[in-house]
Amino acid sequence: MGAVLFSGTDPVTLPQCPQCHSAYTYEDGEMYVCPECAHEWAKDAATEPAEVRQVVRDAVGNVLRDGDTVTVIKDLKVKGSSSVVKVGTKVKNIRLVEGDHDIDCKIDGIGSMGLKSEFVKKVPV
Ligand SMILES: [Zn+2]
Repeated sequence: MGAVLFSGTDPVTLPQCPQCHSAYTYEDGEMYVCPECAHEWAKDAATEPAEVRQVVRDAVGNVLRDGDTVTVIKDLKVKGSSSVVKVGTKVKNIRLVEGDHDIDCKIDGIGSMGLKSEFVKKVPV
């Protein structure tokens, strides 16, 4: 059989505790645990610390940025009202936010609302 290899993850690859920077972290299922400050965090979060900001793309793959102008490509019912944002509605000065509706904007006649980036198309400036 030979030497029994350590079956867990190599301890060197364990991340430092994001809270107290202790190196004595360990794995517990899907989580990492810090024994020094009792902080627990998900492995997913720990493996992608470089993801500072998610890239938001429109329906055809253009990267959207704060301040962009987009048009709506599909009739969208406005939650909690009978209003509908019609296809082709131009939305100026969008603001990207986190969440299911990743665009925050103000639409004439409707007001502030959230849009999904998959239902808009960027208008070239
Ligand atoms: Zn800690």
